[in-house]
Amino acid sequence: IYILAIESSCDDTSAAVLCNNRTLSNVVASQKIHEEYGGVVPELASRAHQQNIVPVVHQALTKANIDKKQLSAIAFTRGPGLMGSLLVGTSFAKSLALGLKIPLIEVNHMQAHILAHFIEEENSSQPSFPFLALTISGGHTQIVLVKDFFDMEILGETLDDAVGEAFDKSAKILGLPYPGGPLIDKHAQLGNPKAFPFPKPKVDELNFSFSGLKTSILYFIQKEVKKNPNFIEQNLNDVCASIQYTIINILMDKLKLAVKQTGIKEIAIGGGVSANSGIRKTLLEAEKKLSWKTYVPKFEYCTDNAAMIGIVGYLKYKNNDFANQDINAQARYKIVEN
Ligand code: ATP
Ligand code: FE
Repeated sequence: IYILAIESSCDDTSAAVLCNNRTLSNVVASQKIHEEYGGVVPELASRAHQQNIVPVVHQALTKANIDKKQLSAIAFTRGPGLMGSLLVGTSFAKSLALGLKIPLIEVNHMQAHILAHFIEEENSSQPSFPFLALTISGGHTQIVLVKDFFDMEILGETLDDAVGEAFDKSAKILGLPYPGGPLIDKHAQLGNPKAFPFPKPKVDELNFSFSGLKTSILYFIQKEVKKNPNFIEQNLNDVCASIQYTIINILMDKLKLAVKQTGIKEIAIGGGVSANSGIRKTLLEAEKKLSWKTYVPKFEYCTDNAAMIGIVGYLKYKNNDFANQDINAQARYKIVEN
């Protein structure tokens, strides 16, 4: 089975070709334009998707060495995401499927961040059901109980900002360009994580909150800069390491609680923030320290990419779970529909 997958939910245009559960190609065109605005501008994102989609799909097919006529189905991200961005991928997928007379498969982007673990790679092992998924991305922070591929339950989530936003907003306070998450990671690797202690929020159960952390970082920086205008440049590595350390602790505390409540020690992470080197390291250490089994996606499957849409497409293809031509993009699309 050959699946062409298309992802356009935010600011990355991506297309991938999968042969069953293996990736043949996974092309991502990131949009640079948003950097100068300090965040994603929906109107510009949509326009860039329109420009990118044809060449990106073409490149994915070429790299995979697959002709359109060999495709078994087209999978696309239906949501959640920015409406204008989703519409580009959705309409493209619909018309291509119609033209080729092959099935269309709609994919939930957050399910895809989790199910990316089922892309078969050399030396990779896959989580076994039931497992706990921690999805940490630009728009979401959730602990999900995954009972089966399409049987998921949200155990907890953020009440305000997502963890990716916490990284990006902290970076902005430090004067770093958007998206700041990867830059905080880079500086953190050179700093002392215990240099500046930041308070951890008190949130019930398995829910998260990150807006208070952002405020305390802001106040801390304002106070220090008043005393020493060069504070940020002199302490950038230590500040980044301390912010990252606090965020990782918040995530780990909740994961430990989820393990305690469910008795499940099979842990998978997903979403853009799972690219973070500190989180990856901490989870690997948890294998020994906490006797968890942890699953960290290959780097290219962490941030937005179409291969993860393709694996969901493949799993749905096997279930004969196809969409009709009257399907629409859906900006708000829960991982579990009630
Ligand atoms: P969602 O998946 O919730 O719809 P999204 O698709 O915009 O949101 P992703 O692409 O999955 O989000 O993740 C992007 C986020 O990941 C950004 O906030 C970015 O800063 C963060 N991120 C990427 N790499 C790293 C890293 N190494 N360390 C910390 N954060 C990172
Ligand atoms: Fe995402």
